[in-house]
Amino acid sequence: SIYGDYIKSVIRTVPDWPQPGVNFRDITPLLQNSAAFRKLIDSFVHRYQEMDLDAIAAIDARGFIIGAPLAYELGCSFVPVRKKGKLPFRTISETYTLEYGQSEVELHADAFQHGDRILLVDDLIATGGTMCAAAKLITRSGGHVVETATIIDLPELAGSDKIREAGFGVFAVCS
Ligand code: 5GP
Repeated sequence: SIYGDYIKSVIRTVPDWPQPGVNFRDITPLLQNSAAFRKLIDSFVHRYQEMDLDAIAAIDARGFIIGAPLAYELGCSFVPVRKKGKLPFRTISETYTLEYGQSEVELHADAFQHGDRILLVDDLIATGGTMCAAAKLITRSGGHVVETATIIDLPELAGSDKIREAGFGVFAVCS
């Protein structure tokens, strides 16, 4: 994408966090830098402004940081995809497998109308498990996932291949 190299330069890698051997991509320096944060949101606006979206669905919690300003700017609705147990109304959920154990994402049952055009956003794709589960959940609820979008796609884990194999497009600002 147009600002990809620049955005990458303002993301910090923290070694051995949250556990030994993990290189955590920390987006807080990007958020602290107002010019960089604007360029990030503009990268998504540029790609999606002509796509006639009905809603931005964003994954708990860092997906919210990009999803909310994007929904505001594009003039569409905002829908949170949350971790289990956070949404108060009637929900539908999707369970997925992690390296150790399982996780679950939830959506309000009335979040979408049948055929709504949805962009699904999160900050980072690692194995792709979270994005896949959320995209399947939206599809089950009747929404059409136009694309999935992220700031960072970690190529070594092939998460974006997994998402594409599940039938969803992937856009990453940087990899
Ligand atoms: P996946 O399901 O693709 O394996 O993991 C992606 C999810 O875990 C995303 O919701 C993302 O926020 C979080 N995540 C995993 N690793 C990192 C990382 O290094 N940096 C950040 N910012 N998030 C991560």
